[in-house]
Amino acid sequence: MSFALVVNSGSSSIKFQLVDPTKDATEDPFVSGLVEQIGEESGRITLKHQGEKHVVEEEIPDHAAGLKHVFELMEEHGCGPKQVDVVAVGHRVVHGGILFSGPELINDEVVEMIRDLIPLAPLHNGAHVAGMEVARDLLPDIPHVAVFDTGFFHTLPPAAALYAINKDVAMENGVRRYGFHGTSHEYVSQQVPELLGLPAEAVNQITLHLGNGASAAAIEGGRAVDTSMGLTPLAGLAMGTRSGDIDPSIVFHLHRQAGMSIDELDELLNKKSGIKGLAGVNDFRALRKMIEDEDEDAWLAYNIYIHQLRKFIGAYMIALGRVNAITFTAGVGENDAAVRADALAGLEAYGIKVDPEKNTQPSEVAREISTDDSAVKVFVVPTNEELAIARYAVAFA
Ligand code: ADP
Repeated sequence: MSFALVVNSGSSSIKFQLVDPTKDATEDPFVSGLVEQIGEESGRITLKHQGEKHVVEEEIPDHAAGLKHVFELMEEHGCGPKQVDVVAVGHRVVHGGILFSGPELINDEVVEMIRDLIPLAPLHNGAHVAGMEVARDLLPDIPHVAVFDTGFFHTLPPAAALYAINKDVAMENGVRRYGFHGTSHEYVSQQVPELLGLPAEAVNQITLHLGNGASAAAIEGGRAVDTSMGLTPLAGLAMGTRSGDIDPSIVFHLHRQAGMSIDELDELLNKKSGIKGLAGVNDFRALRKMIEDEDEDAWLAYNIYIHQLRKFIGAYMIALGRVNAITFTAGVGENDAAVRADALAGLEAYGIKVDPEKNTQPSEVAREISTDDSAVKVFVVPTNEELAIARYAVAFA
């Protein structure tokens, strides 16, 4: 059996999986784990393998030390990259700018190009470069492949990709809509034609990735034509901790009126807004519990979230003109039946009818949740970005 190592390095964490790219999407990965609190006094490595969880707590000064330790730990448990057949490494990269339209074999030049994009994604791309350098040192003889969150949205037409701001300023500074969660929107949307029994070219669809971060995409015959995230993953839908779309003048107002610095505003809108800013929690299960306990803030947060979601669904139905399917995915989209029902409630006149029984049936596989006579089919398709990245990576092996 051959595996791909999938690496997702964040600013203070590294998520990793050893994945058999031929496996079924519902199977657990061969190995999965997380390095946390890199650079802090106490770090932690968690490794899951064959149903067992191993945890090591100790200081992890940097990404290099973290990944080295992960490899040692895997070796200890008989699943190290030298003990099993690892044929490629897939690196998740948040920002590919306009340079990268699809997965790319990593060499020194590609690393430099990803480094050049750090100003567009300061929290992410810097960490990705660190992870890549370490992983390439540790596994120098197999291909390393960068898979970009933005890649799938490379096809956005100019009218959807460009903002109505001064074009010279925009051009000089790379200001445009890049879109994110592309690996997930692509992976999920590729399964829809088969569910519909139609050729991919004939399918117009809306995909809704609702996790901690959330985004919507409009896809025409397999090609992305619009998406809710923008220059950064802050735009669009209201999310767990991010505001989504707001009047940009709120930033000027809070700077002038409340004396907030740019960094404080960045933190406010990215980490202290969305559901968390409104209700104090960002997990939808906690929000649901608060709503059951008749907490008014939680109810309002939920309504704002749903209102924003419905606006994007409406906009994309018009942008596409004809829609065959609407698909929910990610933590909230796959698990919260009430979000799905409320997002599409009262849209019978637009040919959208969710079947309450199908919608509430617990399941972990791709399924239809619309009524037999719903003109627009509604699906839940579990996402699996790691499996998608693993499949891209082994294609280079
Ligand atoms: P990320 O964007 O971090 O990858 P996920 O796609 O895993 O996130 O989604 C995480 C969110 O999914 C959690 O914050 C939680 O709100 C939500 N979630 C997970 N399971 C459930 C569930 N059973 N019911 C409702 N919401 C859930």
